[in-house]
Amino acid sequence: MGLQNLCSAIAILLMSAVSVGAQPIPAGKPLHTIPAADIFAGVARPVGGPAAVHGTTSRGCFTGGVALADEGATWQVMRPSRNRYYAHPRTVATVERLAALAPSLGLRGILVGDLSQPAGGPMPWGHASHQSGLDADIWFADMPEPRLTAEERETIEMQSMLTPDGKALDTTRFTAPFARLVAAAAKMDQVQRIFVHPQIKLALCQWDGVGDDRSWLRKVRPWYGHYEHFHMRLFCPAGMTTCREQNPPPPGDGCGADLEYWFTPAPYAPAPKGTKKRRPLTVADLPAACARIFGG
Ligand SMILES: [Zn+2]
Repeated sequence: MGLQNLCSAIAILLMSAVSVGAQPIPAGKPLHTIPAADIFAGVARPVGGPAAVHGTTSRGCFTGGVALADEGATWQVMRPSRNRYYAHPRTVATVERLAALAPSLGLRGILVGDLSQPAGGPMPWGHASHQSGLDADIWFADMPEPRLTAEERETIEMQSMLTPDGKALDTTRFTAPFARLVAAAAKMDQVQRIFVHPQIKLALCQWDGVGDDRSWLRKVRPWYGHYEHFHMRLFCPAGMTTCREQNPPPPGDGCGADLEYWFTPAPYAPAPKGTKKRRPLTVADLPAACARIFGG
């Protein structure tokens, strides 16, 4: 590459960092010394270019992302000040499709929690995943009438679907429309997995509305937390070789031994002594394409 070409290549890289509102990585700074969450949280706008997912949901980023509109006919974005309502265009379309189904499920609309930062990547707080633009959190709450004000969307508390002791599901709160909402999300072809609290998975396993085809239950996985919202994860876009997908869930509806495990002490046991705390991810831990957003 001639000097002139090299200079223009560097200029383009620097411009890409500046155009997304982030600080470019200083030349020569080793990538393993740069905390990835700091630099990705500083990205103000999506990176341009064709939509591409890089890496995994917990070590990745994306380019060509789009924003979910602040509100639509049947949804409102919660905590918009966090600037985490971006994702791969297919994820945004899937959230919109789910929102459009809400009235047929017995809801006015859905309240959408965090998707990803404008270019994804690790976050300084809140989620280990949601990095590659394929994850979306949906609250267990109906969109009220009148709609939430801008201030309420920042401040209103999430409501637990569990009893106060956390040992059972509060069936006055987790009502049929929410069961239908999880089922509708799980039945979408684009959706790979859904995470809910074990009590919610149990309720869905026993639900009289489950239907003859229980195969959608396979996608609904018990996990820690997730009693105020559920987490929807999409498959990698078809043919996108830079996207690394999570393994498929084990076969079956997940209502047997997989679920029983969550009602034993094992998942809640403290980590064995000497277990190392995971260190924060650096830019070097992510695919090279993620560093390139910042000229790295
Ligand atoms: Zn989530």
